Amino acid sequence: MKILISGATGFIGRFLLDALLPKDHQIYALVRSIPDRRLGPDIIQLTCSTLNALDEQIDVFINLAGENIASRPWTEKRKKALFDSRVLLTNTIHKAFRYPPKCVISMSAVGFYGVAREDIFNEETPPKSGFSHELCAAWEEAAMAFSRAETRVTVLRLGVVLGVGGALEKMRLPFLCGLGGPIADGKQWFPWVHIDDVIKAIMLAMTDQAYAGAYNLVAPEQIQQKHFAKCFAAALKRPALLTTPKWALALIFGEMASLLTQGARVIPQRLEEQGFKFTFKQIDKALLDIEKRHSI
Ligand code: NDP
Repeated sequence: MKILISGATGFIGRFLLDALLPKDHQIYALVRSIPDRRLGPDIIQLTCSTLNALDEQIDVFINLAGENIASRPWTEKRKKALFDSRVLLTNTIHKAFRYPPKCVISMSAVGFYGVAREDIFNEETPPKSGFSHELCAAWEEAAMAFSRAETRVTVLRLGVVLGVGGALEKMRLPFLCGLGGPIADGKQWFPWVHIDDVIKAIMLAMTDQAYAGAYNLVAPEQIQQKHFAKCFAAALKRPALLTTPKWALALIFGEMASLLTQGARVIPQRLEEQGFKFTFKQIDKALLDIEKRHSI
C-alpha cells in the first residue's frame, strides 16, 4: 500500500514506522521542510506543495501531526498554535491531495469530551464544553471532510498513550526520584492506552472496511489517577507518597491543569463492539511491560 503519514517524527509516528517499514508498503512522510534528517532513506518526504504535485493515489493517510498539547501552558498564542497545527494543517493537506486517499485515519483525543468526574463517556455521550472539546471537535470535523469524496475516515480519540517515550518519559524522573504521586486528590479518571494497542488499532483501521467514524481508543480498565501513580511507582520500585496540589498545577499550567486534575471516564465502546482485542487491558501489566522495554 501507499501510506502517507503526517507527524511521522513524533512519539506515535516512530512506533508506527517501526511497524510499517518491515512490511511491503511505500511510506511517504509529510514534513515541515525537505529534507527532514530524522527520517530514513526508505521514506519519501513530501510537503503540502509536493503532495499537490504527486501524480498517484495514496491508499491510506495517517494524520498524527499537531503541536504538543501538554508542553506549555495554554496562552491564547499557544491555543492558536495547537489549533493551526491540527485543524488548518488537516484542511491544507486535504486540499493538497490531487486524488483523494482511499482511507484516512486521523487522531483525536479523549479531550473531545472535556472533563467530568461523574459521567461515563462512550462515543455517543454529549461532550462538556471547553477548549479541549473545541480543538478536538474542529480537528475531527476537518478529518471527516475527507469522507465527502467517498474516503473511509476513522477518527481515534486517544487516552494518554503509554510507551517508552511520550508522556510517561516526562513523569519518569520525578517518580524515579521518589517525588511522584497522586495529583490533587487522585480521584480524577485517567484514560490511558498502551502504544502497542494504538499501533494495532491503526493497522486494523487501514484494512478493515468496518472501521469508520469516531472511536474511543482507551484501555477497557478505567482507573483513577492515584491508581496510575501507585502502579507506576511500583513498576519503578519507588514509593508514591507525595501529592501535587491542584493550585501548583494551576500556577504552572493555567487552564490546561484541569485535564490533569479532573480527567474524564471514557470507555472504548465501539472498539469492543467491533471485536477489537486489547493486548494491554490492565495498567499494572502495561507499565511493567514498558519498564521492561525501557531497561533493554
Ligand atoms: P508528538 O508531539 O510526539 O509528535 C507530533 C508530531 O506532529 C511531530 O512529528 C511534529 O513534527 C508534528 N507537528 C507538530 N506541529 C506541526 C506543524 N505545525 N506542522 C507540521 N507538523 C507538525 O505527538 P504524538 O506522536 O504523541 O501524538 C500524535 C498525535 O496524537 C498528536 O496530534 C496528539 O495531539 C495526539 N494525541 C496523542 C496522545 C499521546 O498521549 N501521545 C494522546 C492524545 C492525542 P516535528 O517533529 O517536526 O515537531
